[in-house]
Amino acid sequence: MSLLGQIRIILVNTSHPGNIGSVARAMKTMGLEKLYLVSPQQFPHAKAVEMASGAVDILENARVTESLAEAIADCVLVVGTSTRSRTLPWPLCMPRELAQRVEQAPQRNPVAIVFGREQTGLTNAELQQCQLCVQIPANPDYSSLNIAAAVQVIAYELHIASLGGNVPKEREHQPVSSEDMERFFVHLQEVLVETDFLRLRAPRKLMARLRRLFFRACPDAIEMNILRGILTSVQERIKNAKLPS
Ligand code: SAH
Repeated sequence: MSLLGQIRIILVNTSHPGNIGSVARAMKTMGLEKLYLVSPQQFPHAKAVEMASGAVDILENARVTESLAEAIADCVLVVGTSTRSRTLPWPLCMPRELAQRVEQAPQRNPVAIVFGREQTGLTNAELQQCQLCVQIPANPDYSSLNIAAAVQVIAYELHIASLGGNVPKEREHQPVSSEDMERFFVHLQEVLVETDFLRLRAPRKLMARLRRLFFRACPDAIEMNILRGILTSVQERIKNAKLPS
């Protein structure tokens, strides 16, 4: 199972159904699918569907359980999330380190990430069912994120880790060969002479400056075709203008 396929997001006793929908959306954007709801206060609900937008499939496949114990029964790693550091020192980790911890867990086995109630978070008894606690570093004076925002941050970090350094880059830029550049400069000079912009007897270093300009632009094949097309269109205009009407 892939790193993302292993992850199970568990929401405990969520009160606002809109938040459940927003969580589904946050999950789907990052490639997470498995949602468990431990005694949600209102579910299913139209507000959840509304906030899920294109992620209703996650809601439809969500599993509802009565207790947290039931939702985590088959998990090999259970991770709690909390805004506050409790009086009990709990093994704490940052969202970025979490991916490494998940990678160490036996593959093919589910890993639970548990989110608490909007008002009161997870109880100490619930946190004690977790081996590890993740805290999203935030403003110390206001560190409580909306639950869907918290899911988004953690899911994003897991998604980035799952790419394993293969973050998709912009299409590689392939500049044309120097031979193509030289053909272009010959064509450009031809046109500039035809339009009288360039007088070969007093060239004012024009071609050298234009060469520097186009070298800096480093055109690719498509851009070069456009430039050559423009030059040809100017030449055709000149030719037509010279024809007797
Ligand atoms: N007053 C509650 C806030 C709960 S916010 C409390 O202090 O716990 C609802 C849930 O969102 C939390 O239970 C937790 O799962 C998640 N969450 C919000 N902010 C977070 C943060 N900074 N780090 C980790 N989880 C967070």
